[in-house]
Amino acid sequence: MVKTHGNYINGKEVKSDSRKTFVSLNPTTEQTIAKFQQGTAKDVNKAITVAQKAQKKWSSIPAPHRGEILLEVARILKKNKEKLGKLESVEMGKILPEGLGDVQEAIDVFEYMAGEGRRLFGYTTPSELQKKVCYTKREPLGVVGLITPWNFPIAIPSWKIAPALICGNGIVFKPSSDTAKCAYELVKICEEAGVPKGVINLVTGSGEEVGSAMIKNPRIAGISFTGSRAIGEFVTVNAGLKKVGLELGGKNPIIIMDDANLDLALEGVIFGAFGTTGQRCTAASRILIHKNIFNEFQEKLVKTVKKLKVGNPLKSSTHIGPLVAKRAVEKVHSYTNIGKKERAKLLCGGNPIKRKGFFYEPTIFTNVKPNMRIAQEEIFGPTTSLMKFKNLKEALEVANSVDYGLSASVFTNNLTDAYTSIEKLETGIVYVNAPTIGAEVHLPFGGVKNTGNGTREAGIEGIHEFSETKTVYIDYSGRLQKAQGIE
Ligand code: NAP
Repeated sequence: MVKTHGNYINGKEVKSDSRKTFVSLNPTTEQTIAKFQQGTAKDVNKAITVAQKAQKKWSSIPAPHRGEILLEVARILKKNKEKLGKLESVEMGKILPEGLGDVQEAIDVFEYMAGEGRRLFGYTTPSELQKKVCYTKREPLGVVGLITPWNFPIAIPSWKIAPALICGNGIVFKPSSDTAKCAYELVKICEEAGVPKGVINLVTGSGEEVGSAMIKNPRIAGISFTGSRAIGEFVTVNAGLKKVGLELGGKNPIIIMDDANLDLALEGVIFGAFGTTGQRCTAASRILIHKNIFNEFQEKLVKTVKKLKVGNPLKSSTHIGPLVAKRAVEKVHSYTNIGKKERAKLLCGGNPIKRKGFFYEPTIFTNVKPNMRIAQEEIFGPTTSLMKFKNLKEALEVANSVDYGLSASVFTNNLTDAYTSIEKLETGIVYVNAPTIGAEVHLPFGGVKNTGNGTREAGIEGIHEFSETKTVYIDYSGRLQKAQGIE
């Protein structure tokens, strides 16, 4: 029996105003997992009204006590880690160890943000006047709208929900339609942990209808969006004067110098390019290899990739699961055709796999030029491009020649080359001797250029996204003192 879930508003599951539903599919079997409400702008409005009311009470609870509830969310997530990890494999297609990793990331962020309940630091600073105290404090925004993608279906919503809650905001949450079940389970866990009804509200449905209604609604004080660059631009144009956080795409390079540990670099490339079937914003989609080791590395890489097992993400022998949906297979394949037309050389893969589900062969192109579309545009699948360089200067120019700037990595044992790369790479995140993926929740996450608008998620900067700074002056001199020396 396929279950139909309601929107979750004011602590109750309710039907959408549209009376219509949509289905979430298992990308391995193409079977329906569950049905969800096809939400509307009216549903969004209802959720905002409820959240506005609940937020007032929620923000009046001392932050350390809000933190206790977040800690309880982490505890329940831990208890359900195996079940939720499997759900991720079933609904989104990532292999089980990665599904478990995604849930662990959610646990980590709830634990971290629970601790923030006892910090939420402002700062004190001396006044230019006598008998005057100055300090800053953090305040919630009000109701925030969270719009999330499907590729980290529990972790990314948690990266937003946990800081939004600890800062004292009310929430309207619209998850990707591809992973509505993961989102539903996370919201139910928040309820079980004691988040009061109305504080977090889930409205499912299309981005065009639900997401867009959230972005345009003036009663939402902040939008936190993770997804594609195209929709990020739509948010920028339509959000008005709201606070907006954007986490968008990437075209992430790995640079391999000729002094690098090649076995380590090989492992890094495999995980960076083909982990999560290449469906990570930080996926290594460009591999820049020093000319002295190019042939050797290319040969080793192709040999290893040909051995990777593509299949059911729940099987322990599987390395690569399916893509999220049929449209993703079509998009990845269209880039294979673009690469061939651009005269890049296909070394392996390049085809959808003929079986039930949305599977694609791990694909490697070589002889790729930096200006080719396959080297510039986000493919978001198990496809990577190999490029040869003469020296680090050239590698860095190629690495920076895209308009994204999320993550980059360099494999080298030379300290000067490592630090030069850290300095020159135009990305928000740099890894040395590790692939382009592997964020930790107590450090800021985000990118430069067209990867975002300068905000960062996670760590202390995640708190900044979901709070405002209030500046406070207290004068105890008993007379009117004027700043800037005005007499
Ligand atoms: P997407 O198509 O942009 O969708 C993201 C979310 O936006 C979904 O919930 C989608 O809803 C919604 N949406 C679609 N159209 C909308 C509109 N007009 N107004 C408001 N919301 C709208 O991206 P995706 O395919 O889910 O995710 C892949 C992208 O996310 C990649 O570009 C990847 O690099 C990026 N990403 C970035 C990060 C990061 O932190 N930088 C992390 C993960 C992923 P529906 O799909 O349900 O309609």
